[in-house]
Amino acid sequence: MQLMTIQHGDQPCNEPCGVCGEALLQAAGPGLFTAETNQPVCRSCGRAEAPHLVALLDLARAAERVGKVCRHILVPPMGALLDLARAAEDYSTSRPKSLQHAA
Ligand SMILES: [Zn+2]
Repeated sequence: MQLMTIQHGDQPCNEPCGVCGEALLQAAGPGLFTAETNQPVCRSCGRAEAPHLVALLDLARAAERVGKVCRHILVPPMGALLDLARAAEDYSTSRPKSLQHAA
């Protein structure tokens, strides 16, 4: 099992996945990287090695989308709220067992 980190990239990253070596185009913003070599990690390797970090990235992206949509309106659209709720539920069920008891 590789240690992984979440890092924020200012520009898109076009390097192979640090775990499987597949070509990977990672968008700017938060992404998953190997802790040791600092290479980007594809979603499927991230889900296999660190599902809680992938769920956290999904939650952050959903929150960013909802924040952008809701910036100029009073009531958020139901679809945006459901996306955020789904991402939050995925994160809460994907956390490592050691962190689930802390909540
Ligand atoms: Zn990979």
